[in-house]
Amino acid sequence: MSKIKEKIYLSPPHMSGNEQKYIQDAFDTNWIAPLGRNVDQFEKEVASFVGVSDAVAVSSGTAAIHLALRLLDVGPGDTVFCSTLTFIASANPILYLGANPVFIDSEPDTWNMSPQALERALKDAKAEGALPKAVIVVHLYGQSAKMDEILAICNKYCVPVIEDAAESLGSSYKGKASGTMGAFGIYSFNGNKIITTSGGGMLVSNNRVAISKARFLAAQAKDNAPHYQHSEIGFNYRMSNILAGIGRAQLEVLEDRVRARRLVFNQYKFYLSGFPGVKFMEELENTKSNRWLTALLIDEKEAGFSSQALLEFLSAENIEARHVWKPLHLQPLFNGAPYYSHNEEENVAEELFSKGICLPSGSGMTRGQQGRIINTILNFCIKKDHHTGVNL
Ligand SMILES: *Cc1c(COP(=O)(O)O)cnc(C)c1O
Repeated sequence: MSKIKEKIYLSPPHMSGNEQKYIQDAFDTNWIAPLGRNVDQFEKEVASFVGVSDAVAVSSGTAAIHLALRLLDVGPGDTVFCSTLTFIASANPILYLGANPVFIDSEPDTWNMSPQALERALKDAKAEGALPKAVIVVHLYGQSAKMDEILAICNKYCVPVIEDAAESLGSSYKGKASGTMGAFGIYSFNGNKIITTSGGGMLVSNNRVAISKARFLAAQAKDNAPHYQHSEIGFNYRMSNILAGIGRAQLEVLEDRVRARRLVFNQYKFYLSGFPGVKFMEELENTKSNRWLTALLIDEKEAGFSSQALLEFLSAENIEARHVWKPLHLQPLFNGAPYYSHNEEENVAEELFSKGICLPSGSGMTRGQQGRIINTILNFCIKKDHHTGVNL
């Protein structure tokens, strides 16, 4: 029996070595909680890195979306539009507020929100006198959505945009940082993201008043009074000073992490894109993706195998790869929610879901590990005798 191979994870945390320094600072000053210097600095450093005036550090990316929707006054019975091809966390906060999601399909170039589907949805909503309170646009796997088109349409209907940039910190669109073009942007520092605080998130905006309101809501909405007084529903959403310390050290190496993940993508593409029926996610012109996860499509008819078959083969080799997100309009939780397809013939997100897979893309992955993944895929794609193997 062959010995079990070391597991290669999809996107494991990658520490810089400097995290302990900031954690130690929190211990030395006994600012374990609540808040403290690491939180204040982490907010300033992220704001300055992406080029916005204000940021508030919170307990998760999901919490940041929830706060953004609250700031835009979303409440029971309201409508919020959201990309359909995304993780559930993009849309759960719509339900927290008792509002109703409408899902918008992807377009084929970026896999992100289809401007033409969005335009149809807004036109219908206007005709019904029920424009959405917000549009949540996701930048999938680091790839920017077509923001010029999306913002132009949303501006025409005066609907604010929330950028779910949970996966795209470090990406840019026409020179602007991902997450800084809408009314609000959110980032996630969950353990699998490009940088992590183990768990955490950030809400950013150039609207100082709104961010200071978010800070108030995230800390139980305590009124300015000599006693505990509350006039609004608040949340316990602030980030701890220990975790913000991890974030500060991680932010220092973000650009290295982007470089490493882009290299991972390029290696996969170099060795695997020659196969018929295999197509890698493109990069939109004038944008730079952080390539958080390397994503590719497998056309079963051309390739002779399905994405599912390859995933099973990789799993048997102890390599963690995943399907592309299952579209939210297909989730049982959102059964019956309205959905706008790219056009009458094409359900782009559904097709991406059936063909798409994500390969291990960690910035700490060794060349040897990536070589093992590539060889495993080559072995699966062609007969073993016909190739000589790859040594990265
Ligand atoms: C990870 C993720 C989130 C949620 O972030 P958390 O910090 O895990 O709450 C939201 N949207 C997308 C697209 C994500 O990938």
